[in-house]
Amino acid sequence: MNAHDSEKVIGTLMAQGYAQVATPEDARLVLYNTCSIRDKAEQKVFNRLQNFKREAGKGKIFGVLGCVAQQEGEKIFDRAPHVSLVAGSASYTRLGEMLVQLEAGNRRVTGLSLDTDETFDTPFTRRDNPHRAYITIIEGCDKHCAYCVVPFTRGPERSRTSQSVMAEAGRLAAAGYTEIQLLGQNVNSYRDPSAAGWDFAELLARVAEVPGIRRVRYTTSHPRDFGKSIVEAMDGNHAICDHVHLPVQSGSTRMLAAMDRLYTRDDYMRRIEWIKAARRRYAITTDIIVGFPGETEEDFAETLNLLDEVQYASLFSFKYSPRPNTAALDRGDRIPDEEKQRRLIILQEKQRAIQIRQNAALIGDIQEVLVEGRHQALGQWIGRTSDNRTLNFTHQDSGNTGDLNGRYLSVRVTRSGPNSLVGESVTVV
Ligand code: SAM
Ligand code: SF4
Repeated sequence: MNAHDSEKVIGTLMAQGYAQVATPEDARLVLYNTCSIRDKAEQKVFNRLQNFKREAGKGKIFGVLGCVAQQEGEKIFDRAPHVSLVAGSASYTRLGEMLVQLEAGNRRVTGLSLDTDETFDTPFTRRDNPHRAYITIIEGCDKHCAYCVVPFTRGPERSRTSQSVMAEAGRLAAAGYTEIQLLGQNVNSYRDPSAAGWDFAELLARVAEVPGIRRVRYTTSHPRDFGKSIVEAMDGNHAICDHVHLPVQSGSTRMLAAMDRLYTRDDYMRRIEWIKAARRRYAITTDIIVGFPGETEEDFAETLNLLDEVQYASLFSFKYSPRPNTAALDRGDRIPDEEKQRRLIILQEKQRAIQIRQNAALIGDIQEVLVEGRHQALGQWIGRTSDNRTLNFTHQDSGNTGDLNGRYLSVRVTRSGPNSLVGESVTVV
């Protein structure tokens, strides 16, 4: 989502006559888009700001955007006095105006209000990937998970109209994009504010019908709002990829309650059963936090046995990081960092063993990949399967391979590792 915010900011500035340069050294204006989801990400921003200023930042204008900007606000001016602009994502519609103030010589400009019902719809977006395009469908978050800073940095939920999303999807298809990824902190709570009144399942199904779009992905789902109609929409159209990312955070109902996640382990497992009972085979992935305050060995053991039960295709795992403003910040029962680290390693090793087994079972399968790049040294193309695995492959084409990037090919899986597959192309689709 942050990467796509950057694409939209760059597009907006280019539309106003700014030009993007190749390196920060060449720039007169340097904008840092920031993440504050965990403490480490936040620290990085200040380190980079200091280092760059020292080495090459003389005479430049600096701005801090994104969640650290929203969270720290004007305190950033004290910590990094060379910064002139501080703006959170809910103020990006005013960016042009703020830059005009800077150009006029204003030394301190801020955009920090969260009181908005606007979404950041951009007429022009400077996209990094020529084949896959992101579309934000909903901004902000109305949940209040006890560990999470997002509602404080991105503001309340605001959905875009279905007309605006469909128009963007149509423009992308016309421009040659074949894969669309719908984005939001909780895409499942998408509610079309226009008279059409689509919910997320309807929007997903309609985007998948746009001529020229061969793949549709979406992220992220909140289990509480993940309805059966989403699985039905997925089953109904092969363009919707064979992958569901359903963050669980913990396998312990007690911890889920402490986290304010609004579902139990049983509620979560019901959704997994819908996905597993579907007509197609879907890869399921998740996010897990270890060491949330009060997490006992028993709670952690429940997370481990959830991995056995669900058999995730992969997962993102994090050590709990206390965040400002959040409900869990002042709770006791803090888990020491060494213990969090120990749990993280156990979790990751268990998942690695599952992935080794799961990926080995795919040997011999033929899968369609979208070609995303090339490993020159290995003589392999990099492909992505519909279920979001990396499948690197060799391609024999009467000695003249040409550029396969952006093409869809069928590839037979011949080898597997914990994090990727290797294969050879069979036919050009
Ligand atoms: N909205 C999504 C959801 O509900 O799952 C994703 C939110 S966040 C950008 C991505 C992941 O970061 C979360 O699923 C969670 O696992 C992790 N995360 C968020 N806050 C955290 C914190 N304070 N400490 C550790 N991990 C955190
Ligand atoms: Fe954060 Fe929870 Fe909202 Fe996800 S649903 S962004 S974890 S508050």
